Amino acid sequence: MGNGAGAEKGMKRRLGILGGTFDPVHLGHLRAAEEAIDLLDLDRVLFVPSADPPHKPGCELSAFEHRLRILQLSISKNPRFGISEIERGFAGKSYTVNSLRGLNEEFPGSELFFLIGLDAFLEVDTWYKFREIFHLARMVILRRPGFGEADVEDYLTRRISADFRMDPETGSFIHPEMFTVYYLRNTRLDISSTRIRKLAAQGRSIRYLVPPEAESYILDGELYRGGGRN
Ligand code: ATP
Ligand code: MG
Repeated sequence: MGNGAGAEKGMKRRLGILGGTFDPVHLGHLRAAEEAIDLLDLDRVLFVPSADPPHKPGCELSAFEHRLRILQLSISKNPRFGISEIERGFAGKSYTVNSLRGLNEEFPGSELFFLIGLDAFLEVDTWYKFREIFHLARMVILRRPGFGEADVEDYLTRRISADFRMDPETGSFIHPEMFTVYYLRNTRLDISSTRIRKLAAQGRSIRYLVPPEAESYILDGELYRGGGRN
């Protein structure tokens, strides 16, 4: 499958989705999305900032508008990157299952690939209606340093469905009814938003961890100064 495969008549577009709090988005996210496009021949990746993430209770999050603006500044030069504000309109918590239902409706001509870091993936069985997620999108696990390696097949068969099997030829995990789960061989970049917030709070450099446009926005707005969030 070459470039423009999705544009051929009758072929579905391959749409990556990267959900997150993005407080702030960083080069770990951007590079993982870029490599997913490359390795899985995706047409686009949409970044989906969560409004009220269920898994970060009690911890204060920067205002949605700040996180969104940093995202916009960071992706604007990449024509294959976009943003979906679908979670902005949700009442209550931002559940991934609802976002994927909505995106399937919004993009009926697309196959969805839900990109997710290994750290987040290993908690999927605690998510609202998690099994439905495997019927809505192809999960793409991203390697991430600092969170260890894991036996994904063991996790899938024990927590999601006993019918998952690793396909030795591709290294993907296949299932008779659910979508295939991919494990991306992406470059491991040890970057996290938590670390960036800490550095910024201490007045230390965040250069080369985030795009320059994001760095300027964070510094100009003194976003994470004082250790707190805005
Ligand atoms: P925080 O430290 O605030 O949790 P984060 O760096 O983990 O921030 P999130 O917005 O929580 O960023 O992450 C969104 C998604 O991107 C998650 O699925 C997460 O696992 C993944 N991700 C984040 N950073 C990386 C990275 N460096 N490499 C691969 N995946 C990543
Ligand atoms: Mg995180």
